[in-house]
Amino acid sequence: MVRDSNDAAGDGIAEAADSDATSYWLAASAAGPDRPTLASDETADIVIVGAGFTGLWTTIALTDTDPTLRVAVLEADTAGYGASGRNGGFCSASLTHGLANGIRHFPDELAILEREGLANFRAIVEFTREHEIDCSLEETGILDVADRPHQVEEFRAWVDDAAAWGEELEFMDRERIQAEVHSPLWLAALHRSPGRDAILDPAKLVRGLARVCEERGAMIHEGSRVTAVERHAGRVRVGTAGGQSVSAGHVVVATSAYSGWLRRLSAHFVPVYDYVLVSDPLSAEQLTSIGWERRQGMADANNQFHYFRLTADNRVLWGGYDAIYHFGERRRAAIRPPSDDIRKAGGAVPGHVSAARRHRLPVPLGRRDRHDVALHRDVRAGPRWSADICPRLHRVGCRGEPLGRWRRPRLHSPP
Ligand SMILES: Cc1cc2nc3c(=O)[nH]c(=O)nc-3n(C[C@H](O)[C@H](O)[C@H](O)COP(=O)(O)OP(=O)(O)OC[C@H]3O[C@@H](n4cnc5c(N)ncnc54)[C@H](O)[C@@H]3O)c2cc1C
Repeated sequence: MVRDSNDAAGDGIAEAADSDATSYWLAASAAGPDRPTLASDETADIVIVGAGFTGLWTTIALTDTDPTLRVAVLEADTAGYGASGRNGGFCSASLTHGLANGIRHFPDELAILEREGLANFRAIVEFTREHEIDCSLEETGILDVADRPHQVEEFRAWVDDAAAWGEELEFMDRERIQAEVHSPLWLAALHRSPGRDAILDPAKLVRGLARVCEERGAMIHEGSRVTAVERHAGRVRVGTAGGQSVSAGHVVVATSAYSGWLRRLSAHFVPVYDYVLVSDPLSAEQLTSIGWERRQGMADANNQFHYFRLTADNRVLWGGYDAIYHFGERRRAAIRPPSDDIRKAGGAVPGHVSAARRHRLPVPLGRRDRHDVALHRDVRAGPRWSADICPRLHRVGCRGEPLGRWRRPRLHSPP
């Protein structure tokens, strides 16, 4: 976590006070219980590799299907250590990273994907309630904002296009959006009412999911990095760096951006570094000066977009846009980049600050003399994007199947 120093470079952000650079979300809420590493050879029906959203929701889906299944989750660090504990906390019904992207990539299956996405969104909200996962979930609706003149007419036209797919949007002209959230650069907006989107605390959600998995009897081993998956006597043996292994009928690899350990998966992702900033909590006066009373999650309409949201304690979180790609860069063993890496990331973080300035949210922009509120630089290392920015399911050893062509859940076994 770092603090604003009003530094000479003028980006308003100091060097890391703590090179650990733990995610803001993970640091801000109580960690889960200490979970044991895998200390002996074990057996299970299914092994899940990775305790992020993918691994934990898979565990929940499996135990929904058959509560007697013995599921072992092997996690290299701690539950939520990856992108699941480091993201913007926007929870959306869209399974295709937005309707427009869905139309582009899955026109023939989009009606199904939209329907499933809506049902999925409602199920997530209900699940958190049913299992008392307090993840500061707020169904706020969404604001897409235009900051370039050509986007205004695109927004206006998009209202009808989206309606054809069942998505109701309200067009806001310059006056309306600036009355809603007081940034003078916004020229128009599309407002989506609550029902398809929420903002939440992702670390609390992922830790809550881990708790539910354990309540259902799943064993989560933290500090248990998987290094090998091999067939053995008609089963799968999943070996860890510590030398122990779990023998199981099936394995689900849920390591997302960190899947380089399984060479066959690497090619399916583009390694991109992304950064998020979080401010100190805003005062009541600062909040009033922004407007933003409906607390919608917001995103601009640019190709490399920024997103903005308020946290439960009224910090502003900015993210996106400054996606950094280092040609041919390999992932390091530890994802926490030291300050060298932060410097190497070049203009990424300052870019966020200038973006925030550009959008002129009347909130702390790194200038104590103006606002007296610190910025925290929250370093996010290496999400990897699939080419169509959609989730992908792969049968290990077989060709990947994009989401839209995937019909029925099945367990994936290694070759
Ligand atoms: C900056 C940023 C902002 C984002 N914002 C949003 C957003 O607002 N809304 C949204 O829906 N999505 C967002 N995303 C995407 C979202 O966070 C990811 O799609 C999601 O968290 C992926 O979950 P996962 O479980 O597949 O992967 P991860 O959460 O990355 O989990 C993978 C886990 O595997 C573990 N692991 C890695 N290697 C091994 C190994 N060899 N053995 C054992 N365990 C291993 C890791 O430690 C990690 O815990 C964002 C992502 C980033 C990076």
